[in-house]
Amino acid sequence: MDSPISEWVVAESSVWLSRVRSTAEPAISTVSDVLCTRLVHDETPQRELLKRSVLRKERSRLLPERDVRAPVPSRRGELFYRWQRRMNCMPRFDARIPEEPLSVLVFGAHFDDCEVRFGGTATKYRELGHEVTLVCMTNGEAGHYKQGGATLAQRRRAEADAAASHIGAEYVAFDNPEGELRPSIDNRNEIIELIREIEPDLVFTHRPNDYHPDHRYTSQLVQDAAYMVTVPNICPQTPHLDYNPVMCYLPDSFEKPYPLDPDVVIDIDGEMETKLDMLHEYTSQMYEWLPYNIGMLDEVPETETERREWLPKRYEPRNRGYADRFREELKDEYGEEHGSQVTYAEAFEHCEYGGDLTEENREILFPFF
Ligand SMILES: [Zn+2]
Repeated sequence: MDSPISEWVVAESSVWLSRVRSTAEPAISTVSDVLCTRLVHDETPQRELLKRSVLRKERSRLLPERDVRAPVPSRRGELFYRWQRRMNCMPRFDARIPEEPLSVLVFGAHFDDCEVRFGGTATKYRELGHEVTLVCMTNGEAGHYKQGGATLAQRRRAEADAAASHIGAEYVAFDNPEGELRPSIDNRNEIIELIREIEPDLVFTHRPNDYHPDHRYTSQLVQDAAYMVTVPNICPQTPHLDYNPVMCYLPDSFEKPYPLDPDVVIDIDGEMETKLDMLHEYTSQMYEWLPYNIGMLDEVPETETERREWLPKRYEPRNRGYADRFREELKDEYGEEHGSQVTYAEAFEHCEYGGDLTEENREILFPFF
């Protein structure tokens, strides 16, 4: 209270309140009501200034939110607006200011999900020396047509380790039955404990609307863990985090209830071959189960070399499609010339339940632009 105006507010409002109390005027119920009522009839210059300020605040409080919102000219403006809106209505979700090396944690439902949706970006993080941990929420025991159970689960785990070794990432796998993942409290608590142990700056997972129940429940579980990692009495044996990690959704092509609306689009042209090398390790998926499941098993070549040459036919179109679909975002990020020449992209959308993605931490969390 060091400005003359604020001193005046305190002095005047207390005098006025005592008068109000003594007369018990029923129409006046708050300090601001008192000030508005009094100041409307007061014309000295200092009081005129304060009157305008109080009336402006009162008016903005009464307006519906959509009318208060200023025009949003850019994606960064949109990020700022979201942060501002959240500050008014939700617990404050402070993401810490990250320090290098970053810690990045990616939750996929199945053993190839992280690589398919995040492989190029994971490679970029590792090239810059950041830590990447890939998580598979299920054990891989079901997705096949002539194998299953522990044999298939062990095979999938070995494929995952081989894929992660291309970029030096860690792989964590939970022993939940594939195809039967449950959005249970036990599974949520396991995720909370893992996030607390890893202390990630960034968490990625599926969007909540997806064709596969394991994808949907992975998303549900990770979203449910987001805020809870900061609550000391939840999983009290694991020290809680004093920040809420920034969380983003992995890309997909589903359109209902709305298509992916990315906050970050990344050029992975230089990492596409490494991403394909990682996918190539998943023999049981890329060359057996997935071709069988979509009726093109007879197109899969026999030899390793032929298969690696064939693999882009299946997986390039996805990332080429993201680059075309999010061309304007790529131009915003990289400039007109670079952005218009990107062939392959990965795109990620901020999840509101994790920490805030701000202009300040975005530059540190996505150090690729
Ligand atoms: Zn999957």
